[in-house]
Amino acid sequence: MHVLTMSINNITVCPHCNLDMELKTAPYEQNNVTLGEFEAYVCPNCGRVFYTDKGYEGINKFSMKKKN
Ligand SMILES: [Zn+2]
Repeated sequence: MHVLTMSINNITVCPHCNLDMELKTAPYEQNNVTLGEFEAYVCPNCGRVFYTDKGYEGINKFSMKKKN
């Protein structure tokens, strides 16, 4: 079962603030456990995180590994 949040689809501007986001890494949490840091765009204003496709790949691999 995969529960994913928003996909980025090449968004580099925060849809809420209309500001350019920074490409960096952001921690991803699942059930209050941090799985690691993954590539994401982060809005400098509101702090919203949009994981890139690469970031999602890492999250998926990681959460599959952690499943059992
Ligand atoms: Zn924002």
